Amino acid sequence: MHSPLAGQIALVTGASSGIGSGVATALADAGARVAINYHAHAEPAEKLAAAITARGGDAFAVGADVSDEAQVDAMFDAVVKRFGTVDIVVANSGLQKDAKFTALTLADWRTVIETNLTGQFLTAQRAVREFERRGPRDVSKALGKIICMSSVHEVIPWAGHVNYAASKGGIQMMMKSLAQEVAPQRIRVNGIAPGAIRTPINRDAWDTQEKLERLLKLVPYGRIGEVEDIGRAAVWLASDESDYVVGTTLFVDGGMTLYPGFADNG
Ligand code: NAD
Repeated sequence: MHSPLAGQIALVTGASSGIGSGVATALADAGARVAINYHAHAEPAEKLAAAITARGGDAFAVGADVSDEAQVDAMFDAVVKRFGTVDIVVANSGLQKDAKFTALTLADWRTVIETNLTGQFLTAQRAVREFERRGPRDVSKALGKIICMSSVHEVIPWAGHVNYAASKGGIQMMMKSLAQEVAPQRIRVNGIAPGAIRTPINRDAWDTQEKLERLLKLVPYGRIGEVEDIGRAAVWLASDESDYVVGTTLFVDGGMTLYPGFADNG
């Protein structure tokens, strides 16, 4: 098996389901030892860790609310205690609380910003501190790699989802500004912007044939994305194959950002 991440240690937040689970699996299959963060329910994360371990990998589940500073600290402490350090951090946790703008509550605005944006800030900050603390390792050309899970909605406006789109737009500029700040230390920070990926977060967009057909009108490539599509992108961004890629968002969206409404003469 191709093991571009052999000897490396990864942490993936929100990895008990969906994209995070697919990314943790792909990183493990590429040779990394993986810490699988979950928020509320330990069991799916523990099952995933067991499945990875059963295939000869090394993984464990670690609980934390990424919007809570003390819990993020405890999560990094647990990873360092178990694996010694971390080389790859995927800030993936996210949620939606959708509402028409005039009905959007301050509580739902805050929950989405605090989980999606502040959660990635706290996760990335602890990652940089840990890379600096332990110094260079001979497992990668970079001192460390951070991948911020963004969305096509870092550039596509989304009526009825103002809090979510604002959080993803914020992630884009946080990622780029951080990448600029830490690149001289050979820390690579990049983002992935998934399009429509089949996960629990957007079940309502694909769980009937009719809804799926409507969704696919937005996807020039003509299929919904799978978590494995994002897993492969994450492995590449985490590996030395992408060593000169710094501060970029990789869109993995089947062409969703190509203004498909203009395909037929607009
Ligand atoms: P998901 O609901 O399966 O995964 C989200 C994960 O985040 C869950 O495991 C959840 O437990 C975790 N989470 C939520 N709040 C948390 C908190 N406070 N602390 C720690 N973890 C928390 O959905 P998904 O589609 O896999 O989403 C993963 C990421 O991908 C999100 O950032 C989402 O915005 C992004 N994304 C998804 C799609 C898509 O089409 N599925 C498209 C673009 C971007």
